Amino acid sequence: MLDPYTPGVGSPDLTIDHYDLNLDYRIGPNRLSARAVLTGRVLAETTSIVLDLTGLRVTKASVNGRKVRFSTHGKKLRLTTETLPTNQPVRIDVSYVGNPQPAIGTWGDVGWEELEDGVLVAGQPVGASTWFPCNDHPSDKSKYRIRVLVESEYTVVSNGALVDKTRKAGRTAWTFESTTPLATYLATVQIGRYRQGQIAAEAGVPKSPVPLGLYAGEHWRAASTRLRVQHAMMNLFIERFGPYPFEVYDVVVTDDELEIPLESQPLSVLGPNHLGTEWEAERLVAHEMAHQWFGNSLTPRRWSDIWLNEGFACYAEWLWSEASGRISAHECALNWREALAGEPQDILLGDPGGPDMFDDRVYKRGALCLHALRQEIGDEAFFAAIGEWTATHRHSSVDTADFVECVSRVADRDIAEVVRPWLFELELPELAD
Ligand SMILES: [Zn+2]
Repeated sequence: MLDPYTPGVGSPDLTIDHYDLNLDYRIGPNRLSARAVLTGRVLAETTSIVLDLTGLRVTKASVNGRKVRFSTHGKKLRLTTETLPTNQPVRIDVSYVGNPQPAIGTWGDVGWEELEDGVLVAGQPVGASTWFPCNDHPSDKSKYRIRVLVESEYTVVSNGALVDKTRKAGRTAWTFESTTPLATYLATVQIGRYRQGQIAAEAGVPKSPVPLGLYAGEHWRAASTRLRVQHAMMNLFIERFGPYPFEVYDVVVTDDELEIPLESQPLSVLGPNHLGTEWEAERLVAHEMAHQWFGNSLTPRRWSDIWLNEGFACYAEWLWSEASGRISAHECALNWREALAGEPQDILLGDPGGPDMFDDRVYKRGALCLHALRQEIGDEAFFAAIGEWTATHRHSSVDTADFVECVSRVADRDIAEVVRPWLFELELPELAD
């Protein structure tokens, strides 16, 4: 098994370097006709390749140019091959059709989802297979080329840079290329009647060095005004976390309200209900932006290390609270320490278990762990360590041991004992005043 948090998902015997996805999509009938070409290699000798694929019907498959037999069982696609030795490079070519739908499970609806008038993909943690055959695990990061053909009234947003846009007979093909690797759960397609533009900085605020793009429809005006705050956020996060890991940062604002915002790479998806001036909305704008460093550039090797995403993204909210003239990060920490003390202490932050990995206590206790570490080693060492963390492991996979090693090296002392009670004991540690 690749990961006990997502049993049955992903394959330990395969690694994919590149996904080339060619999607022909009809919005009205929600009809997908697609071809995926995966290049990678097998990690152990085998006579079959097993991929994740949910709710779609394969019509044709080949491996290294030879047609292969295939079968589907539940959410698995098995391609029967000749004997492939360890490290054999493979080129897997799969044609498939269907009406893509979210997968319903432990974490609610995940994957390809129809909006009132468009599409949203919410891949985390196991939704990628609802729209393409994949090795669905964050440890297997890959580059992507995604081409989507849709009716020309719609705009498509996907991962990386738009490298081609070709119009033909009332339909338009949008091609995106991501040259930095990404986890399957971050692969995305957003389709809507969106216009695209840049978000201006607020008067008197230095413009972010990273272009901040916006895709929105009905809520364009509200979004382009409210999201100006992102310039100051981006400047703060670059100062605190180190250089922004991608070329651009885009936000998609859907016409439909969304229960939660979604992180993707290098973009986030918000609903119009996340555009308010109140803290509860603004903190989520900061949270999603911070995921570009924590989760997207540095991706957990196993889901059990989800605190490396969510603890950091939550701590980024507290840093923004302070920088935006609200309460300080320290006050946020004290408040949340007290709030958590009133909750059951039955989740281990360093290994919360699959069903609870997105529990809010993981987010808040993760941020508290970082704050406690900051108090212990001091601001200078703490932020130097975070900068080192995001630089050393840029665009790669990480785990808690890597984090402890990195901070210990920068702080010039072993910090394992500082974080251990937060990560590996149930009882909630005290925080210094
Ligand atoms: Zn998050």
